[in-house]
Amino acid sequence: MTDDCLFCKIVAGEIPATVVRETGTTLAFRDIAPKAPVHVLVIPKEHFGDVVTLAEADGKLMAEVMETAAVVAEHEGLTTDGFRLIFNTGPYGGQEVAHAHAHVLGGAPLGPMLA
Ligand code: 5GP
Repeated sequence: MTDDCLFCKIVAGEIPATVVRETGTTLAFRDIAPKAPVHVLVIPKEHFGDVVTLAEADGKLMAEVMETAAVVAEHEGLTTDGFRLIFNTGPYGGQEVAHAHAHVLGGAPLGPMLA
């Protein structure tokens, strides 16, 4: 838990979120400002600043984040037509919340790139 981290506060239950899946190590919840009909964020409960830091520090946890993302995609009905899985990383990557997270986006054609 990092005191000033928004997603750590969601993990701690201090800020509400619409949780769609929870495991011992990961949490998946709906994005507050969805950019697609389905837009779910998948995070490790433990704080890592971005996906690179997470992958370097704990490959098993990284795999668990990916597994949760895959289960969410399945449960949200995205696997037939496909979906987008992205990790914005750092300022040039458009990362606004400094807690590693995957975006699971789908439910409509998304085009070649997400603006
Ligand atoms: P980033 O730009 O860091 O990759 O993505 C951060 C995401 O977190 C954005 O899509 C934004 O809409 C979402 N977000 C920001 N604040 C909140 C919040 O309080 N609750 C939820 N559920 N999502 C949030």
